[in-house]
Amino acid sequence: MNYSENISKLQPSATMAVSSLAKKLAAEGKDIINLSAGEPDFDTPAFIADAAVAGIRAGRTRYTPASGLPELRRAVAENVMRMATPGWSLSAENVVITAGAKQSLFNACFALFGPGDEVLIASPYWTTYPEIVGLARAEPVFVTGPEERDFKLTPDDLERARTPRTRGLIICSPSNPAGTVYSLAELRAVAGWAREHEVCLISDEIYRQICFRDDSPVAPGLVDLSAADIGPFVIVDGVSKTFAMTGWRIGYMITEPGLASKVGALQSQTTSNAATPSQMGALAALTQREEANAAIHEMVTAFHRRRDLVVRLIREKLPHLSFLRPDGAFYLFLRVDAEYRDGIAGSGDWCSHVLETKGVALVPGAAFGDDRFVRLSFATSDELLRDAIDRLASA
Ligand code: PMP
Ligand code: GLU
Repeated sequence: MNYSENISKLQPSATMAVSSLAKKLAAEGKDIINLSAGEPDFDTPAFIADAAVAGIRAGRTRYTPASGLPELRRAVAENVMRMATPGWSLSAENVVITAGAKQSLFNACFALFGPGDEVLIASPYWTTYPEIVGLARAEPVFVTGPEERDFKLTPDDLERARTPRTRGLIICSPSNPAGTVYSLAELRAVAGWAREHEVCLISDEIYRQICFRDDSPVAPGLVDLSAADIGPFVIVDGVSKTFAMTGWRIGYMITEPGLASKVGALQSQTTSNAATPSQMGALAALTQREEANAAIHEMVTAFHRRRDLVVRLIREKLPHLSFLRPDGAFYLFLRVDAEYRDGIAGSGDWCSHVLETKGVALVPGAAFGDDRFVRLSFATSDELLRDAIDRLASA
């Protein structure tokens, strides 16, 4: 069969591939510790599950408008407004509910970019960004800051990569795969550069509420800037990570009403609405504030403790390896290139070796644009993290 140009460069998701392989090996009875999965190990909080079940029983099982339940779109806008700097005025028209944050990213890129366009991607990057840019037939262009600056970008870095064809910039803070968090001043500088050059800033803020900085429990996001600091923008967020709802498939984009309406039309001709019962669950997550805050607090406290634990254990047991100390999300980017020898040529070989000989599943850094590193997810129990690092230390 001949395939279309549309998918000629498409690669399957490396994070999902490693995670599926690890689950398969475990199901076959192998002793595997899966630190590859980018998902919380918690169950979805009961108040959310109850709301979805109640919704199903009450007959909320039909189509909703393609852009999502009006009350959920309103709840997203109100939630964002609560965190926003005065001057931001958002309503349901600024919001589209999608099947996971991934669909928001796809829809935004598909609606904004096309052949001949270049889209800058802050590297190391989440593995899906270049693929989605490629599906829009635009060109991904990777930009990276120095490792000493945790790879964070400044306007100078961006300016070096800009050409007359630059149309977009995708950044992620707290970042997947390195847990890097931009400060407000750093974000303002990047947003100012994008505004000046009319580059659409796509800010993936899905880990915003999973932040361990002393100065703030929530990472800075675009809405913490003044509306005047920002040009064309898309904020991507969702309930997958904050509320342990990865399988529910609810994400959202927050943008200008014009783009939101185009994306609504795109969804109306492709997937229609995100699953209605899942939207009911997300509505509870965003409106039952007290339960939501308690659930987030409990999960983020655990992620914070585990971050401290893995950082301590790696320093103690793998002192020859360096890493970026994550300030948010639940990933640690571990530099392992010092161990590339004897048939281990890169991060893929290193991860295969460690999976085969030690039963620890990690994701090769090559999937995120940096072959010197591997990604470790600490969204698992303290006990398994201890065991995994002991195994790595004996590797
Ligand atoms: N952005 C980032 C940075 C992610 O790590 C993920 C994880 N899957 C997503 C977006 C997509 O989230 P969702 O599961 O809601 O599609
Ligand atoms: N985003 C998560 C990860 O990076 C989940 C897997 C995926 O959606 O690619 O592992």
